[in-house]
Amino acid sequence: MSIGVLALQGDVREHLTALAAAGAEARPVRRAEELAEVQGLVIPGGESTTMSKLAVIFGMLEPLRERVRAGMPVYGTCAGMIMVADKILDGRDDQETFGGIDMTVRRNAFGRQNESFEAAIEVEGVEGGPVEGVFIRAPWVESVGAGVDVLATYGDHAVAVRQGNVLATSFHPELTGDHRVHALFVDIVRSAG
Ligand code: GLN
Repeated sequence: MSIGVLALQGDVREHLTALAAAGAEARPVRRAEELAEVQGLVIPGGESTTMSKLAVIFGMLEPLRERVRAGMPVYGTCAGMIMVADKILDGRDDQETFGGIDMTVRRNAFGRQNESFEAAIEVEGVEGGPVEGVFIRAPWVESVGAGVDVLATYGDHAVAVRQGNVLATSFHPELTGDHRVHALFVDIVRSAG
């Protein structure tokens, strides 16, 4: 079982390390041929407007949307959460997403108040106490459709959600050395396979 990390832009290396620590064979994915070889995909943190542009340039937008529609497990962190949202607020006008979760995500929602902060976040399905949530110009979930499970909240907003095989967090577990959220995703990929 091989899990890809979308390597157009963002903190790819940290996710490769976290996935390997969680027991997966992990590899960077830049092109449609590489996407065809993985059973699951992580979309890293970074800058969603840039990721959107590069996805178009690298011909990844449609192949990825198709895999998501076909049920491939995907985990998006921060900018990656924006990329798996069906709708976004405060994005650029021409900004595209891959979709996958019936939710509206507000880009840079926490960032305007506070560039970057950490908070202990209790995540449903992750045993052993809260995870350290690292928020960096992070989005929040403004609203979700009926089929979406909210796994964690911070203040008034969802910051971890799941719909079917697609998981998303506003924060960056790949930066903490705690691999429990990646382990949850590896389990999702195993169960889907
Ligand atoms: N603000 C970034 C965006 O809009 C996300 C930041 C991050 O991934 N740390 O994509």
